[in-house]
Amino acid sequence: MANNVITVTSPLLPPLDEFENLLKDIWDRKWLTNNGHYHQELEKALAEYLGVEYISLFTNGTLPLITALQAMRITGEVITTPYSFVATTHSIWWNGLSPVFVDVDPETGNLDPQRIEEAITPKTTAIMPVHVYGNPCDIEAIQEIADRYGLAVIYDAAHAFNVKMNGRTILDAGDMNTLSFHATKTYNTVEGGALICHDARTKKRIDYLKNFGFAGETTVVAPGINSKMDEIRSAYGLCNLRLIDNAIAARKKIAQKYRTALANIPGITMFKERDNVTYNYSYFPIFVNEAEFGMSRDALYEKMRSQDVLGRRYFYPLISDFAIYRGLPSASKSNLPIASRMAQEVICLPLYAELTDADVDKVLGTILIR
Ligand SMILES: *Cc1c(COP(=O)(O)O)cnc(C)c1O
Repeated sequence: MANNVITVTSPLLPPLDEFENLLKDIWDRKWLTNNGHYHQELEKALAEYLGVEYISLFTNGTLPLITALQAMRITGEVITTPYSFVATTHSIWWNGLSPVFVDVDPETGNLDPQRIEEAITPKTTAIMPVHVYGNPCDIEAIQEIADRYGLAVIYDAAHAFNVKMNGRTILDAGDMNTLSFHATKTYNTVEGGALICHDARTKKRIDYLKNFGFAGETTVVAPGINSKMDEIRSAYGLCNLRLIDNAIAARKKIAQKYRTALANIPGITMFKERDNVTYNYSYFPIFVNEAEFGMSRDALYEKMRSQDVLGRRYFYPLISDFAIYRGLPSASKSNLPIASRMAQEVICLPLYAELTDADVDKVLGTILIR
């Protein structure tokens, strides 16, 4: 791609020499996968860094969602958000379960607790919320509903790597939390992911499930999947973990520059930042109100592209608008007015550590110069 094109994201890459040293060690050990040295090291390092006790590495961020539902033996209906990446709903489908879409709160973009309660039926057994853009859900309200109705809560925390509230990780909310380490995410292992749980027995079961259900050399206890992270990507992940604090600090500066510059532009809105949340600045969504801004979201998106600035309409379309899900009763636009409006108005601006001041000014120029 030409140098002057500003992409929406760019992967955090480990220093080649550091990665190469670990590769040489892997070559010496001749152990490439199946809970090897670097797999164990990365699980330990991530548990410590994220402030969680039990974490299992996976080969991507979709299989931990599928495995979490399987591990908890979820049945019937699962309440979830249409305003997310398709993998959230796909994981429900892959377990033969019925997704039930519920609208989001306009202040956060996350599942609206009150609407969750309205959608519960005798078949509901779980809630799968998403901390969209790393913006924390109303964890307490969701837990209260789950406790009252006896529901499991599995968070798709793919965007919430190291997000904290009141100084504490949010990755221990509910029953389980999943992460994605895809190349486009704040922290990446090329492809990768993880499943976080609360106790050693559950982790043991998760580790069986990600290895075909093997509980020993000759024992298979469940129809598990193969979702083991290999040694090469585990080593890559260890190198990247050393860079992540600086990368997030750089993202924060860029996000603040966007926020200040766009604060008083009629027709452009952003999510408020909460004082008690430590964000990871994984995305910078803006919402374009056509009537007030005088230009539609799509027109602005095309204008940005014409100036070599690649925004992303993320999340558009809604998951519930894809042909595979739009026949569900809960997928109707009238059931999801807020999420539908957000999907029509959103653009995520370019955000990654290497963006220069000039890049940021160029991005802002596409919006501010009329
Ligand atoms: C990226 C993402 C996933 C899936 O992760 P992969 O690692 O790409 O499989 C799941 N949910 C959300 C919200 C995501 O953004």
